[in-house]
Amino acid sequence: MNKNYKILSLSHLEHFNNFVSNKLKEIFLNGIEIYTSSEVNFKKDTFDLIIIDENFIIKEKLQSQDLNNLQSLYIVVSENFSKVSSALYIRLGAWSVTDFDSLSEILLDFKYNNGFEQKQKNVSDSTFFEHSDFLHLIFDSIPLSITVKSVPDLKYVFVNKHYELTHNIEKTNIIGKDVQVVYNESKANELFIEDSKVVRTKALSVNTYSDVWIENGLMKNKVLSMTRIPILDTESNNVIYLLNVIRDITDEYVQDLELLKARTRLERMFNLSPIGIIYLDAETKKILNINYRVSKFLDLTKEKIIEHTLAEIGVWGQSQEDLFYNELFEKGKIYNYKSIFNTPNGEKKHMNLSGDYMTFESEEMIVLMAFDITYQFDSHQLIETNTKKQQELNKLKTTFISMISHEFRTPLTTITLSNDLLRRYSEKLTQEEKNKHFDRIQNTVLKMTKLMENVLIIGKIESGQFIPNPEPIDLPSYCSSLAETIEFNSNGSHIIMFSSESYEYNTKVDENLIGLILSNLLSNAVKYSPKDSVIDFNLSLNENHEAIFVIKDNGIGIPEEDQKHLFESFYRAKNVGPIDGYGLGLSLVNKCVESSKGSISFYSALGEGTTFTVVLPTNLNSQDFAFTV
Ligand code: ADP
Repeated sequence: MNKNYKILSLSHLEHFNNFVSNKLKEIFLNGIEIYTSSEVNFKKDTFDLIIIDENFIIKEKLQSQDLNNLQSLYIVVSENFSKVSSALYIRLGAWSVTDFDSLSEILLDFKYNNGFEQKQKNVSDSTFFEHSDFLHLIFDSIPLSITVKSVPDLKYVFVNKHYELTHNIEKTNIIGKDVQVVYNESKANELFIEDSKVVRTKALSVNTYSDVWIENGLMKNKVLSMTRIPILDTESNNVIYLLNVIRDITDEYVQDLELLKARTRLERMFNLSPIGIIYLDAETKKILNINYRVSKFLDLTKEKIIEHTLAEIGVWGQSQEDLFYNELFEKGKIYNYKSIFNTPNGEKKHMNLSGDYMTFESEEMIVLMAFDITYQFDSHQLIETNTKKQQELNKLKTTFISMISHEFRTPLTTITLSNDLLRRYSEKLTQEEKNKHFDRIQNTVLKMTKLMENVLIIGKIESGQFIPNPEPIDLPSYCSSLAETIEFNSNGSHIIMFSSESYEYNTKVDENLIGLILSNLLSNAVKYSPKDSVIDFNLSLNENHEAIFVIKDNGIGIPEEDQKHLFESFYRAKNVGPIDGYGLGLSLVNKCVESSKGSISFYSALGEGTTFTVVLPTNLNSQDFAFTV
């Protein structure tokens, strides 16, 4: 700045003058002379700028013409800044009206736009536009509303045809007048302030506003875009005209609005979707974006997922990831791809995936839709097992009914027959013959009781009513007496050799369960081995408090192809021949062993014999057993 600016602060209040002086020093740094009201005659002297306190205008009762006649550029500082007073002062020639907060901004405008020069503009310039027919012709044929206002009074010097039509006003009624001739006061004030800002700052501005326009003779609500272009005098660089170009942007606006609505809707859908959506870079496979559902089911924040591949965050193994992308690459699109996502907290989520490629602004992406089907998968599994169980139970029930009706007929006939004979011929029969019948009855009853016991226990286990009751027991004695009973029941046809090591700790077992397991295995050993053969029965205990029972016979053995089905209900090997049985014992034994957290295995060679080994824990409590419905 070469020239020293003369600036006057006009107020009765010392703090106003101090405030203004400080602001001026702050903005201009140097090159200014600051005057205050007491020292000068503001009406006569000329200044580069006067900053007037609005209270001064009120107190001094300054009239419109006083302000209009001021030789200097002036800014009004008002505590009660409003659009109405602002527009009023601008109409009275104020360069700007401001509140205290925006004074610095206005002073900066002044400093950089040399606003003071406007007052001295060459007035003859303003006639140029009024007489340029050629310009009028061009402007009239443009389908935009165009107005030209003179500066600084902001009066219309030109409006084009389109403006006349859309604003329903004739040129002759508008030229030489200001915006109040077209708009109501508040709208006019608004336009006035915006116009004067462009004049002051020499900077083009674009505003969007709504207004009623006449279109094809009809009043229509329009969204308009107003571009204000300051026209500068090439020599003095002063603003001499203000060009306003008004464009109807209703359609674009509505489109934008629709677009915005659609985008908002889409964003909402994206985030509320029950399906996880993942965008990935098609080349690097790094995740670009995910919706809320994905971070929810992975239980990871978005930040931890973005910019990583699925393998990097541990959702997939590398080979799993390669497999998926290879298939997607080959097919182009994937639907219904079942996969498992591993979440960081160790859960496995069953997912149904769809994948597709998408090109957006030459960037190739993969869109992955992931639907969590863990729940359905689990329920499906549950239904499947339940149905299987139900089917088994039904099969069991029907077989029991037919078995009981069929198999009980023979023993019951035997009993009735023997009983009848004994009753009718009691006197004629010898004691030996009577004993034979008593034994037959006894044996048949025993056989039926055994079958019924098994049936009952299976029923209880299947229906979840079996409650194990483990109690301390002297296992070797128990086993030895069981062996004796079975040997006795075989009528001495077999020898059961029981052996056991001595042991020192307590054993706790459910007597019913262990009885059921061992008696079934021992009876089978007897049943499926020749008369007079020896059956070895050994008990030992290991350090894990487990009892190991080994029952070895030298019988018919089990054909290899039957071995894998042996624990299924009603399954009997091909080689049983006339030996009777129902194929229930081993399935029951297996159930009891499994539920007691034990194990059962066997080794068998056809025609040589079979060895069953059962390992059972002997330290379980009632609740440790796993009997399920
Ligand atoms: P079953 O009432 O038929 O004996 P199990 O369920 O006890 O029913 O046994 C199923 C099948 O396993 C038997 O039918 C038989 O074929 C075979 N089996 C069981 N134990 C032996 C064994 N010790 N020797 C040979 N075969 C056996």
